[in-house]
Amino acid sequence: MRFATQAIHIGQAPDPTTGATVPPIYVTSTYTQAAPGEHKGYEYSRTQNPTRQGLEACLAALEGGAGCAAFASGLAAENAVFTALLRPGDSVVAYGDLYGGTYRLLERVFRPWGLATRYATDTSPAALAELVDATTRMVWLETPTNPLLRLLDIAGIAAAVRDEARSLAPHRAPLAPGLPDVVVVVDNTFATPALQRPLALGADLVLHSTTKYLGGHSDVIGGAVVAAAPAVLEPIRFFQNAAGGVPGPFDCFLVHRGIKTLAVRMRQHCENALRIAQWAAGRTEFERVVYPGLPTHPDHALAARQMCGGGGMVTVVLRGGLAAARRFMSRTRLFACAESLGGVESLVNHPASMTHASVPRDVRERIGLTDGLVRLSVGIEDADDLVADLEQALQGT
Ligand SMILES: *Cc1c(COP(=O)(O)O)cnc(C)c1O
Repeated sequence: MRFATQAIHIGQAPDPTTGATVPPIYVTSTYTQAAPGEHKGYEYSRTQNPTRQGLEACLAALEGGAGCAAFASGLAAENAVFTALLRPGDSVVAYGDLYGGTYRLLERVFRPWGLATRYATDTSPAALAELVDATTRMVWLETPTNPLLRLLDIAGIAAAVRDEARSLAPHRAPLAPGLPDVVVVVDNTFATPALQRPLALGADLVLHSTTKYLGGHSDVIGGAVVAAAPAVLEPIRFFQNAAGGVPGPFDCFLVHRGIKTLAVRMRQHCENALRIAQWAAGRTEFERVVYPGLPTHPDHALAARQMCGGGGMVTVVLRGGLAAARRFMSRTRLFACAESLGGVESLVNHPASMTHASVPRDVRERIGLTDGLVRLSVGIEDADDLVADLEQALQGT
């Protein structure tokens, strides 16, 4: 099956007892056993739930992975990855322009726990490999990055950090049998498997906030981890059952239902975002327009190689700084001023004061996240209406 077919059919077999074309939502905490230990493979819903398993099977197929573990949020999924695969004394290497919540989790929860993260300021494979030392067991990549939409070369970075790790600690025992020396994780929330398949490019794990494009309708919080190999998934699955953080069946249903239209939604997100980026590039009120699908983007060639579409996010920097950004954002009507992204409805966000407020100012400025920067999550409304909305919002900036 190809992508759009998998999205609709995997984990969605008709209900065998009634023939219901859409399988029921299994709202149950437990399962009745014929005699102690005599059951149909289901004992308790933290451990197994058919609605969750359907979603996990579908996500694993879409990313081309060996398996998937779903969580109650993207950050719960991240927590599972760090806790299940790392130990105090280990270190992580990441590129500095990260989702704010990931940065907060690494700095405020895991650094005190004993896990240090070093952040690269340059996107090149050599810059990330240079930060690898004998304690490094994970590389965390977000591409496109948020909100500056830089691209990281997944295949190039995976190869460079693995070479570096091997040369530093050739005899280091892995934490669990079959785990790679350095686990390469890609947060694929922005691109989705419709536009980018990190496991095929050499990543070991893909992380998702299913809250965003996968759910796609701004009505559910969820997360998931997809692993290339069973050995990498196994400790995360163990953690999922041992520590919880699992999504409920209704949430799994909503995400799975959203995924059915992912292929067609992503095409429209890309088309609308390119249209808005091209319009914005012609307006003098913007000092900068960032979109991977524009030939002026610094990583345009890598985007063409690594992704099949520029995505639905457009970042603009207003010449008038903070005051202009605030005026612009309070005037949009279709673009709702809100955190989050990836829904069918367009949203506008001010990272410096909203999603990235937990990132210290000096770090923000070093990576170019200035006060005039505004992030657009371009929805799938009519593009003419979206352009008209932004045009009227620019008046008075
Ligand atoms: C939203 C987001 C997360 C966190 O996911 P939640 O579902 O909000 O917990 C992680 N990474 C990226 C890139 C995100 O956009």
